[in-house]
Amino acid sequence: MVSSLSVADYFPWRRVKIVYQNVNSEPASALIRIEPDRRFRAACHACGGPARTVHSHGRKIVRDLPFGGHEMTLQIEYRKIWCHACGGVRVEQLEFVDSAQRVTNRLAAYAVQLCNRGLSIQAVASHLNLDPKTVKALDQAALEVECGLTRYDGLVRLAIDEIAVRKGHSYMTVVLDYDTGRVVWMGAGRQIETLDEFFKNMPENVRNSIQAVALDMWDAYINAVKRWCPNADIVFDLFHVVKAFNEVIDDIRNEEFRKADQQGQEVLKGSKYILLKRRKNLKPKQRIRLKEILALNERLNICYWLKDLLPVIWDYVSKTWASSAIDAWQTVAEADGHPALLRFARKLENYRYGILNHCKHPIHTSKLEGVNNKIKVIKRIAYGFHHLEYFALKVKQAFPGRISDN
Ligand SMILES: [Zn+2]
Repeated sequence: MVSSLSVADYFPWRRVKIVYQNVNSEPASALIRIEPDRRFRAACHACGGPARTVHSHGRKIVRDLPFGGHEMTLQIEYRKIWCHACGGVRVEQLEFVDSAQRVTNRLAAYAVQLCNRGLSIQAVASHLNLDPKTVKALDQAALEVECGLTRYDGLVRLAIDEIAVRKGHSYMTVVLDYDTGRVVWMGAGRQIETLDEFFKNMPENVRNSIQAVALDMWDAYINAVKRWCPNADIVFDLFHVVKAFNEVIDDIRNEEFRKADQQGQEVLKGSKYILLKRRKNLKPKQRIRLKEILALNERLNICYWLKDLLPVIWDYVSKTWASSAIDAWQTVAEADGHPALLRFARKLENYRYGILNHCKHPIHTSKLEGVNNKIKVIKRIAYGFHHLEYFALKVKQAFPGRISDN
């Protein structure tokens, strides 16, 4: 069915004219044929210079915004021109579509807008009936413009963390401006070389002005910071230490479960969550369970006591007091003597300096936790984990930073 309705207003583009329109209802689609308006001289897409002569004509199919529920396809005839400035044959410049694209600029902008609202690439692609690869390329190009460059200005305190990109396999390193919450940089891997990539482009004056870096107790990161930031104090944050100790508790709990008699196993069954969750987050019923578990099992009771003591170490503003709390922790762990507890006590010893640095640089770990959780959401949206660059840009976009409220 050929519609007699004029759709010209929908295509307010200069230097072209609509020469044909065809609207189908089943499936809902429309085809518009566009030709150059020969009253205007063509311009070179590369340099914008005027055409001396038209060399030949070309045609391409381009997708445009859907119109009234109709999928819109444009058949565009364009000129290839001889550009004097470029010294070659060039495609003419069109204001509504880039020469290398198969979608109009406004469809590209709309797709990017949907991606920015948190829709997955798959969702945007199926909504607009585009190839997911096209949607990703469009979003990635927009992201490159928005946040592709690494900005080093104003950095004083950093938080550096790893995130698992595929379970147990590959990692990425995330550098956060602690004071503004901005994700400054992301890179593949979690080695010293990974961070070398970040630091080597950092201007020397910025490297010298970094005062504190919050880290997990991970030697590759520690060594990189020592190598590049001579004035930075390394601070180990509570969040990672609690996470590491929770793994110890869980291992011990499994061990105790295997050793327990039937009644003991009954009590320990399903206790993982209760033991790992913060006490204040437990419901009244779970608190009763916790009491039962700790009363029954001396070793878990000690583990739980140690777990409660960890945040206390980070509470002190005095290095002396924090140091005594570490001593107390180690004494109790050593008295119990379980190898995993002894290992953890040694770990606290080796990294004591960075734990005590927290007194000087009270970097709060809740910020890191928040970032980690939000990154997990982006990971789900960002079209699988094989596109690390795209994923990194999405994360940077999600954490643009703000003025510090300190
Ligand atoms: Zn040119």
